[in-house]
Amino acid sequence: MSESIHARVVVIGGGPGGYAAAFKAADLGLEVTLIDEGENPGGVCLYRGCIPSKALLHAAKLINETHEAGEMGITFTEPEIDLTRMRAWKESVVKRLTGGLGQLTKARNIRYLRGTAAFTDSTTLAVDLVDGEEQIVTFDNAIIAAGSSATRIPGLWIDSPRMIDSTGALEIPDIPGSMLVIGGGYIGLEMGTVYASLGTRVSVVEMLSGILPGADRDLADVLKKRLDKLFHEIMLETSVTGLKETDDGIEVTFEGENVTEKTQLFDKVLMCVGRKPNSANLGLDKASVQVGMRGFITTDQQCRTNIPHIFAIGDIAGEPMLAHKASHEGMVAAEAIAGEKVAFEPHAIPGVVFTDPELAWCGLTEAEAARRDMEVKVVRFPWAASGRATTLARNDGITKLLIDPRTERILGVGICGYGAGEMISEGVLAVEMAALASDLKLSIHPHPTLSETVMEAAESFYGSSTHLYRPPKKSGKG
Ligand code: FAD
Repeated sequence: MSESIHARVVVIGGGPGGYAAAFKAADLGLEVTLIDEGENPGGVCLYRGCIPSKALLHAAKLINETHEAGEMGITFTEPEIDLTRMRAWKESVVKRLTGGLGQLTKARNIRYLRGTAAFTDSTTLAVDLVDGEEQIVTFDNAIIAAGSSATRIPGLWIDSPRMIDSTGALEIPDIPGSMLVIGGGYIGLEMGTVYASLGTRVSVVEMLSGILPGADRDLADVLKKRLDKLFHEIMLETSVTGLKETDDGIEVTFEGENVTEKTQLFDKVLMCVGRKPNSANLGLDKASVQVGMRGFITTDQQCRTNIPHIFAIGDIAGEPMLAHKASHEGMVAAEAIAGEKVAFEPHAIPGVVFTDPELAWCGLTEAEAARRDMEVKVVRFPWAASGRATTLARNDGITKLLIDPRTERILGVGICGYGAGEMISEGVLAVEMAALASDLKLSIHPHPTLSETVMEAAESFYGSSTHLYRPPKKSGKG
């Protein structure tokens, strides 16, 4: 064992929460040690999550666009897929970005320890280094950013190459003939999109009555319409009750009112039923750090745990489990340690589902407004009326705004359509800046762009919009 080292700030976990926290703390003049087993920082997001999945989704989009170009008079031959090169390309994207993070870590003079840390008390960590040594680190402040892992339904996991989670799916070892995706959340739908575009017959099974339970139904419906064509089947209100491996695949048993075939055989089964915080093996009890019911570490608005010099951020500190939320919390924690008066109090954390079309929302949703019994005016602009959507042959979209009818303030924005993930930032800004519908209506948006749908939705709050005529009502707005 080497001599113990001391850190002013130690960050456990090098994902988008941890590295953002470490970088910010270093930029604020604090001496920082960052611990993660990866060769470079990156965490789930860069190695096994956001980045590799989006690289593959981009490839999927290219494939689908070649199929759809026929309408524009361009016919491609069936794309040839070289999986070895596709994997190499995806890995090169990951390497480039994680390598960049490694350089940024060095440039900031952050001490990077490759290993796994656990608290031995509230000021000490024991780090199992990847080279087999143990390193003791004492600290003034710690930021826990140890992230989350894929959940497995107990009793419904088979140890077999045919059974994969999102990490296994991102490896694209082959293109199976058929695949069942268990779970109609965003990760399942994104990975299903990748495989279906590569030629797999994809079925999705979801226990609830709709896909993407967190999103508003009108937006999810737009997506489902297209996924119904891309996927072989989406089985709703259906549960998987048994899995059995046979010589030919995995035999899956289903239960639910809509089930027509009680058992079906699949070449592969991808389980995407959510993620759980990595709080079990960190020695949190030894540091007396409180953990809530679902395993999330309890924190205040500065991301501080019940132990004042220990902070927790990102997936391990609660929903929504998203990279950008983790990074923002990381920066707040670093600033709080540096003594700045900060708080994590966003009005709008955007959520984006990178399917085709993309689905994005921020701020208040209609479902949430109904739960809270809030009066909101919802205005929608269908992309059938968008010039830009028509030039892209992608009229399958909708932009909607949730507006406080008294103050005219924008409370939430939802978009389902091509490129919605890029567009939602305008909504985030509008919600955060407490913009009024008139602000969006009066801000000149470039033509022809999909962003005009935001402006026109705002316009329709006051009656008709240029490209959407609604006969005036006798009295009142809208
Ligand atoms: P993580 O990124 O999970 O990083 C935690 C790090 O801590 C890991 O490297 C882990 O090895 C390390 N660690 C754990 N325990 C210890 C320990 N004891 N000692 C040292 N290190 C430890 N989010 C989005 O916002 N957009 C997306 O498009 C998106 N796509 C996704 C796609 C997939 C397939 C998956 C699985 C996730 C996706 N996510 C996406 C979620 C996103 O990856 C997470 O929200 C984000 O990575 C959380 O960041 P984090 O810093 O909290 O933790």
